[in-house]
Amino acid sequence: MKIKTRFAPSPTGNLHIGSIRTALYSWLFARHNRGIFILRIEDTDEERYQKKFVKAIIDSLNWLKIDWDEGPYYQTKRFDRYNDIINNMLNKGTAYKCICSKERLDNLRKSQIINGQKPRYDGYCKTKYNLSNNIPHVVRFSNPQEGYVIFNDEIRGRIKFNNKELDDLIIRRSDGYPTYNFCVAIDDWDMGITHVIRGEDHINNTPKQINILRAVGANIPTYAHVSMIFGPDGKKLSKRHAAIGILQYRQQGYLPEAILNYLIRLGWSHKNKEIFTVSEMINLFTLNKVSKSPSIFNINKLKWINHHYINTLPAEQIAKYLSQYMNIDCDSKLIKIVEVFGKGYKTLQEISKSCNYCYENFFELNIDCANKYLNYSNYKLLESIRSKLLLTCNWNSENIHEIILNTSKELKVNMNIVCMTLRVAITGNDSSPSINKIIELIGLKITVSRIENALDFIKNIKILK
Ligand code: GLU
Repeated sequence: MKIKTRFAPSPTGNLHIGSIRTALYSWLFARHNRGIFILRIEDTDEERYQKKFVKAIIDSLNWLKIDWDEGPYYQTKRFDRYNDIINNMLNKGTAYKCICSKERLDNLRKSQIINGQKPRYDGYCKTKYNLSNNIPHVVRFSNPQEGYVIFNDEIRGRIKFNNKELDDLIIRRSDGYPTYNFCVAIDDWDMGITHVIRGEDHINNTPKQINILRAVGANIPTYAHVSMIFGPDGKKLSKRHAAIGILQYRQQGYLPEAILNYLIRLGWSHKNKEIFTVSEMINLFTLNKVSKSPSIFNINKLKWINHHYINTLPAEQIAKYLSQYMNIDCDSKLIKIVEVFGKGYKTLQEISKSCNYCYENFFELNIDCANKYLNYSNYKLLESIRSKLLLTCNWNSENIHEIILNTSKELKVNMNIVCMTLRVAITGNDSSPSINKIIELIGLKITVSRIENALDFIKNIKILK
């Protein structure tokens, strides 16, 4: 049997950590078993549907390189199919029309609550055959009255529901729209899904879907319900923690490798191993090692993994990410920047913030630093370095260091002051990696123009005085 799994998000919000982890597990399970992974967009909730969320789903999966073999399928394009099946079920008696008024349903509900019963439809219309299509009605599924729905969840073990607890759920609304659980069940059947891997919040939908599948004579897939992810406070994830869209992690400078690695470990383990390449994930992933208990989101752990990847991936690869992140060219200059800056930082955002002055458009002069170092006593040293740099034939950090050292000796200015003055002139700030390396990186043209701006700055102070 060819394994077939699916990821079936509803485009009613941004994909967050929990949804992506479900997608990842489903994808890994398919890839591990050389099966098929499909993407299905469950877009039947007209009120909450937004096109931008479909785009965010696709962008998020593309960013993380979670690729699909079929789809995206859209439920709204399958209404004819759903309606054919509903009409068939009406003929067979596994579904029936219900014309109960809202008032009757409200009263029924109230009296059931008063009598301590679970509110559910009482089957009042079940025996009213041959109701005309012209009368406003909904279509209900005729849920079995007796017996149990039992399934073996791959993560949680045996789960049992009493049919008496289940409702005759509406499968087509009065406006003709098929409803959620029905569409999911029919899609899983039509698309040949063998394993439904999804969030724990869908456990209660599973017996409804299994009963529908049985009624239409479909095979029942295997189910695996993945636990919830909680915030560090043990409560539902809040915006502050991780309920933000996954693409916001991209904006914050996380690498796809780190997100995937963090997510696979959040609820799944293999010995004490922390770091997994994607091919290791595919080789090692099995559902029986997915934890039943909820996971706790920990941003520091995610940062730690991100730092690991920034430190260990080849500079060329980080430069590629950084170029997309900063919207600049990925060239040898950027690769050098990564080599000079990369190691200590935890995110692309941190690298970008600290290296952006290497590019002309990003320079910003910190006025406190300027006031401290760009003053008349340092004018001469800047001027001298500028002239020497203009005469340099071999543009490399060693020669640049020589120039700085010689200037310090010639003008009898402490090396620390020379470097700081130069640093403020060139980076706009008082901290950076070795200034000779920075000068090498940004090149003669930008260096000279920044020194000239610093000289102008000093002249202006003098004029103001
Ligand atoms: N569309 C559902 C959701 O976004 C998932 C349904 C399923 O996986 O069965 O929560």
